[in-house]
Amino acid sequence: MKKILIGTHNQGKYREIAYLISNKYKKISPISLKIHSPKETGKTFAKNSELKAKFFSKFVDIPVISDDSGLCIKALNNSPGIYSARLAKKKGSFTKAMKFILKKLEKVKKVKDRSAFFICSLSFKFPKGKLVTVEGKIRGSISKKIVGKKGFGYDSIFIPKNKKITYGQMPKSKKIKIDHRFVA
Ligand code: IMP
Repeated sequence: MKKILIGTHNQGKYREIAYLISNKYKKISPISLKIHSPKETGKTFAKNSELKAKFFSKFVDIPVISDDSGLCIKALNNSPGIYSARLAKKKGSFTKAMKFILKKLEKVKKVKDRSAFFICSLSFKFPKGKLVTVEGKIRGSISKKIVGKKGFGYDSIFIPKNKKITYGQMPKSKKIKIDHRFVA
């Protein structure tokens, strides 16, 4: 059976990427191979997803797929952006990071515009070969409260465009088929 390494330590992302890849592939996690994650030194989503794919590729002789993703909020100058994971780490949890974002949005004067987007830069690296990077984006808005417990990360404050519920309120099987990772 063909194998592919899904280069992420994030369980939520791993599950989604694994779901999207054909069953013809045996999906391998860097955790099972005891490979740590590289430092995200890039200044863009694309640079970071490429850096991860190249890094994990050094340890294996199979294709590697990895992503860099995050939530960009217009009223907050597109933050947390590439720092989405680091904000949660700094605040202690995703719930604390989401509360921090909601408070910040309240403070920004006249924030009527709660628009935001989720972005995913996805890189595929052939063993010792070509690196391909694509991008997927989903526009939406930030909810007034944290709602929904079905997702991961910032799912419970993001309402995709033309929907009335957050990613966190959607069944996993539904969210996976409409999100930024799916598009990428
Ligand atoms: P990184 O790509 O490893 O830098 O992490 C991206 C950050 O954005 C992580 O904290 C993720 O949990 C969060 N994130 C990425 N995609 C999603 C998503 O689909 N839903 C919720 N949070 C996400």
